[in-house]
Amino acid sequence: MKMRIEGTFLRSAVARRVFLLFVLSAFVPAAMLAALSYGHVRGVVSDYAQRQLALAGSAYASALYDRLLGAHFLLNANAAQIRSGHEAVNANQFALQRVFRRTFLIAHDKAALQFGPPHLAGDPPRVDPGAASHLAKGEVALLPSQPGPSMAYPWLAVAIDPSHATAGVIVAELDPFFLWGDPDEISYQTNICVLSKGGVALYCSSDKVGAIAATVVSEGAAGHAPGAMGTLSATSELFLKAKFGAPDWTVVASRPGGLAIDSLTQLAQTYLAVTLLTLLLVALLSVVQIRRTLVPLERLIEGTQRIAREEFDQPVTVERDDEFGQLAHSLNSMAGRLGHQIGALRALSEIDQEILSQLDIAHVIARVQARLLKIIPKAVIGVVVFDHLAPESGTAYVRKQGETQTAPVQVLIEAGHRSSCARHPEGMWLDVAGPDVPGFVSMQAGDGATSCFLIPIFWRNEVRGALGISVVNQQEVSDEVIEQASDLGKRIGVAFAAYAREAQLVFRAHHDDLTGLPNRALLSERLHQELAHARRNDAHLALLFLDLDRFKGVNDALGHAGGDQLLRVVAERLSSSIRECDTVARLGGDEFVVLLNGLQNPPQAAKLAEQILTLLSHPFQISGTECFIGTSIGLAIYPADGATAEQLLKHADIAMYRAKAAGRGRFVFFEESMNIAQRDRAVMEHELHLAYERNQFSVYYQPRIALHDGRFLGAEALLRWQHPELGWVSPAQFIPLAEDVGLIDKIGPWVLRHVCAQLAVWQGAGYAVGSVSVNVSGRQFKSTNLVAQVQHALESTGLAPHTLELEVTEGVLIDDVESVIDVLARLKQINVSVALDDFGTGYSSMAYLRRLPIDVLKIDQSFVRDLTEDEGARSIVQAIIAMAHALHKTVVAEGVETLAQAELLRAWGCDEVQGYYFSRPVPAAALEALMTRTMDASGISSEASIACSPSASPA
Ligand code: C2E
Ligand code: MG
Ligand code: MG
Repeated sequence: MKMRIEGTFLRSAVARRVFLLFVLSAFVPAAMLAALSYGHVRGVVSDYAQRQLALAGSAYASALYDRLLGAHFLLNANAAQIRSGHEAVNANQFALQRVFRRTFLIAHDKAALQFGPPHLAGDPPRVDPGAASHLAKGEVALLPSQPGPSMAYPWLAVAIDPSHATAGVIVAELDPFFLWGDPDEISYQTNICVLSKGGVALYCSSDKVGAIAATVVSEGAAGHAPGAMGTLSATSELFLKAKFGAPDWTVVASRPGGLAIDSLTQLAQTYLAVTLLTLLLVALLSVVQIRRTLVPLERLIEGTQRIAREEFDQPVTVERDDEFGQLAHSLNSMAGRLGHQIGALRALSEIDQEILSQLDIAHVIARVQARLLKIIPKAVIGVVVFDHLAPESGTAYVRKQGETQTAPVQVLIEAGHRSSCARHPEGMWLDVAGPDVPGFVSMQAGDGATSCFLIPIFWRNEVRGALGISVVNQQEVSDEVIEQASDLGKRIGVAFAAYAREAQLVFRAHHDDLTGLPNRALLSERLHQELAHARRNDAHLALLFLDLDRFKGVNDALGHAGGDQLLRVVAERLSSSIRECDTVARLGGDEFVVLLNGLQNPPQAAKLAEQILTLLSHPFQISGTECFIGTSIGLAIYPADGATAEQLLKHADIAMYRAKAAGRGRFVFFEESMNIAQRDRAVMEHELHLAYERNQFSVYYQPRIALHDGRFLGAEALLRWQHPELGWVSPAQFIPLAEDVGLIDKIGPWVLRHVCAQLAVWQGAGYAVGSVSVNVSGRQFKSTNLVAQVQHALESTGLAPHTLELEVTEGVLIDDVESVIDVLARLKQINVSVALDDFGTGYSSMAYLRRLPIDVLKIDQSFVRDLTEDEGARSIVQAIIAMAHALHKTVVAEGVETLAQAELLRAWGCDEVQGYYFSRPVPAAALEALMTRTMDASGISSEASIACSPSASPA
């Protein structure tokens, strides 16, 4: 591996750490070793220097002593010469001259110069008694030099004859050159000072060291003089007392301290150099080692970063045999495998996106083929999709490298091939040219392919296709390829599932979950299409809007599950009644719509409506219960009743309401007048809400008269609405509307409270008001709290319950007899009587009537109106009166307008009457007047009818 010299590896934190560690681990011991060794060597060197100096000093001292001894001998010899009378000086002249500067012979206190230059200043020193006694012992005496103007040197003295002091003494001044010796002979760089007892420097080899020597002697310290390594010194004592009878001298040897340190400095420098060299070496080696470690590491890091960026093409180049090389190799092969896998995953995810975004199986197949051709470029990739509706056929898509997908081809699929695919879910090898291969496989043999690996494509455990990889050599298809191919095959299966689900979603979006019929959206879609078609062809079409008549009753009785079941059966019956080209849709609840296309004429639609009515009037068996429902149908025809889908639907709906209003169980064609009514209804609804909020309601009262004696028995409370612009609006118009929009829930209780309060006022004022009846709508009656409402109204006004009567119409009774009976019974319990209003118009069944706890029957005014002309009406009224009496119920005839009617009714035994003949409904105040007068009247009189003139009433 080539190393990069300019590598930037020291930027790496690891590299810096390792480098620092290396350098420190070398530097610290090296520096410590150097410091310790230096200290030790320095000690040794200064000891040695000290010893050397001491030796030099003591050598000098003994040499000085020797020289003094020599001088003594010479002087002694001279004394001997003189004693023996010889001319001593002459004999030793040369020797004496070398040793002494001058000699004197002192006898009898007179000093005579023996030799020496006479001009030398200074007299010989005096021999003091101490020296004299020493001399007397035959010894030599060292005399200190006399202080004088010029430099003086020590003197030696010997007695010429120690036994004869008078013989004289020779004193000689020692020659300094002899005495102190040649300075050059002193060791290198060493200075010698000789100091007397008093510390006076007798001699110093150098002028500079005198003071130092004096200090050393005075402080008694040897070694380093002040100034640390400035000067080294050593002292030696020269003992003169015994031999020379003089105080001792001190020899101080000194040397500049730097001398020893010089060698130490060199040593230190050497250490420094060696340490630096070591450091350099360590740094270099660590750098080399770090580089050897970090450069491949860096490449490995770059390699992993490339992998993280999903760049798998560039391998890591670390050509080494060590662990790094192995790591690089592993990384490269891992990157290769990852590249493959990620490529496969990417392809799969692209296919997934394709599946989710483009609902086109051909696109997905093309993707799968492209991916497989990328891995095995020489192969031919074929995909066959079995047709699930026609098991013997399928569609084949074939593709090879460099070509776009060929157009899908219809192929024959033999049942055997399907089942053989199913038996090999892992795939199988087929010989392309073999006798029994499927046609879609042999299609792929064109490019010289000999073998085909066929992987079945499953969906919901069923083979729905196959993926074929045709190659010349089976070796081209590795296990990895097969693995990827089967993943891709599964993706095609997923695509099948996604499309099926999508189709299901589309179906659900357009169909009703419960019945499976088209829903409003699909109906509207089809209606638009059919309208466009009808417009082009000048054709007609019809829309039948159905609403089941008694569905709520079934739902309440059998529960929602029963209701649902009923709706399903209705859907089936409807579907069975139409042609295939027509549509039955469920809009929700119990509303259905039938769309008839290509209608010849409206009667054709009427015929179908008739059929449907019959079909739905047949009983339904729901959970073992027989139910009757029936339906109301509104019809709208294109183009007569509307040009758009919305108009037609709306008009059919309006017509259906009309059918309901007309008594249910019938069909009604739409008419323009209904539309107007419908519009009015919308306006009215709005106004009705305002009316309640703005207190536009009031209550009128129509008296009830006893037929046999014309007594005032009570009244019927009738709601009135006076609109500021529309004037008086009939209850027949707004009451059904208030019921439809639910406003009756507020208005009904209001009327109850209002009437009870009024009654209480009248009773309090002493009027013989009798009983007053209040009309209760069907919705009010069916609401769970009617009894509570009544109780509340009674209690809050303190009214006696028997004075209140409720009127309900027959229609209320037919839906749910059991609960009606229950409510009636509870009313009875609280002593409130009930009248059956408009009797004779509805389903009045004698069986019901017998069971119902009703007190009063009110014959509908339509019968009374026709009494005089219609024989049929007469017999009905007679029958009703007879029947009611048989059941012990009171009979009231409504709408009596003429005396003739009244007379007839009285003749037949009718109990009470109500009608314009007696009085129109009047405001409360007007009734007060009536009550007073009628209370006085007896029998029917013309006066009464005049008195009850209806002029003030809006009714
Ligand atoms: P209904 O209960 O059958 O009331 C009798 C209706 O006949 C009243 O009509 C009354 O004015 C009218 N009428 C009375 N005598 C004669 C007559 O000799 N000749 C003719 N042609 N009509 C006569 P109105 O007041 O218009 O009420 C219509 C219907 O509205 C009532 O029929 C009743 O079903 C309903 N209604 C009135 N007030 C209320 C109320 O407060 N609550 C409820 N739920 N319905 C009410
Ligand atoms: Mg009534
Ligand atoms: Mg009535």
